[in-house]
Amino acid sequence: MDSLRFIPLGGLNEVGMNCAAVVCGDTTIAIDCGIGFTDEDGAELVHPDFEWLHAQRDQLRAIVITHGHEDHIGALPYYLKKVRVPVYAPPYAAALIGDRLAEHGLKDVDLRVSPAGSREQIGSILVERFSVHHSIADATGLILDTPLGTVVHTGDFKIESDPCDGQYFDRARLEEVASQGVRLLLSDSTGADVEGRARIERDAEAALEYWIARSPNRVVVATFSSNAFRLRAVLRIAKELGRKVCLLGMSVNKHTEVARALGLIPPIDSLLIPPEEVSDLPRNQVLILAAGTQGERASGLTRLARDEHSRLHLEADDTVIFSSRIIPGNELGVLDVINRFERRGLEVITRDEHPEVHASGHGSREEQRTMIEILRPQAFVPVHGTHHHQRRHLELAAEEGIQQTQLVENGSVLELTRDALRIVDTVPVRRVYIDGMQALTEEVIAERRTMGSNGLVTILLSLRAGRLQHRPRVVSRGVFGVGDRDRVERKMAERVRDRLKGRRFASPSEAEEAAIEVTQRFLVHNHRKRPLITADVDGES
Ligand SMILES: [Zn+2]
Ligand SMILES: [Zn+2]
Repeated sequence: MDSLRFIPLGGLNEVGMNCAAVVCGDTTIAIDCGIGFTDEDGAELVHPDFEWLHAQRDQLRAIVITHGHEDHIGALPYYLKKVRVPVYAPPYAAALIGDRLAEHGLKDVDLRVSPAGSREQIGSILVERFSVHHSIADATGLILDTPLGTVVHTGDFKIESDPCDGQYFDRARLEEVASQGVRLLLSDSTGADVEGRARIERDAEAALEYWIARSPNRVVVATFSSNAFRLRAVLRIAKELGRKVCLLGMSVNKHTEVARALGLIPPIDSLLIPPEEVSDLPRNQVLILAAGTQGERASGLTRLARDEHSRLHLEADDTVIFSSRIIPGNELGVLDVINRFERRGLEVITRDEHPEVHASGHGSREEQRTMIEILRPQAFVPVHGTHHHQRRHLELAAEEGIQQTQLVENGSVLELTRDALRIVDTVPVRRVYIDGMQALTEEVIAERRTMGSNGLVTILLSLRAGRLQHRPRVVSRGVFGVGDRDRVERKMAERVRDRLKGRRFASPSEAEEAAIEVTQRFLVHNHRKRPLITADVDGES
């Protein structure tokens, strides 16, 4: 075997959808299988198109999951519906994946729990996991022992100087691996623009404690529910300050349950109260722990901000702490939530004014440098981040004296040989949009786009013996104002009748096509409009 290929299928230059393939001889493994969130075209989720991966299914031996964030596990059910392949995941991720598969009715998936430190021979690759710091429990990086040498994939990581317990960074193992030589390092670029070191989790906890202790009335702490360390800290602080905790929303409840089951947070039953009991307690004895930090319309936090929650109401001088960051693209929604709280006289504490209330899960520049310094790889490829972040990370590797570096994009086929690193090909990377639990085809998306921006015109025809029978009926929406609509619809109907009458159509679809063409011309010529036009024959005898 004289080469190894690394092919990112998603996650580069976009938020979410992390998925990559490593191909080595007759072995292909996928690393992560993530989803992105979207409201484009009415879809909710988006994932990489798995066509290319599917074509490799005979040699695809496993999907190896680095950690349990949605941008790394969320697309698993959609891929596993197509093909069954073993999934290896660390404990916290495995618990989340198990629930998600059950929701999708996927029962017989070969899901294997592999904690940090575990080693699995998968085809020609020995996959070893090492523990990293990140904003979720059980985050791991991968040491791939391949016939081409050792390849290290960091996963999402940071390196904390004073980690909160339960979370550690396996520096000793990496130093050992480095002493044997590392052929290639694939490293998380997300924090490449942030100088210095990322704030540590322990400092975010201390800041939360400070602000919660200073809050005179009810406190809402809004955070990413997948961070069990943060949940545990908030629960501890609430207990120490004599506040009962109301868990608001499905995801906070779900993650608290998983974290409890895995022993990441201590028993808390006596601490919890349901939303309807919040108003029974003095205002300074309540803490509400909520997700929905991104201004999601259906979240409990957004409903609190709009005062539309059925069982829970906040009042002036209550406090809302956003222990979170805004994921790019969600700025307007989050600002709206903040403004709604402030207009009602609540105190809102965010990372903008008080950066100490949140700690990122991704290392900054100095942690990225430390990773390179520990491993001293021969070759370096930045992953996880936009093109800009990858480029900045690449500069850092060059500063550190790494000679072989390469920028990759989704679809790049990166080839590693014993002495070279280069892009040799590209594979197609399309996207699949999910609405409800189903994929939207390109056709449906195209229709939604045209309808959404240009409106809809429908022509109803009736045929007898292949000939137009009555005047057609035309219905339009989102094209003309109500004052003009009837008149233009009548004109369109007359035009279709004039052009189609006397003709004999071999099939209903031939008549429909002719009607669409006439209407299209009429609208472009007279009104410069291009709505979605549909036609339907509603009677043929
Ligand atoms: Zn992550
Ligand atoms: Zn990630």
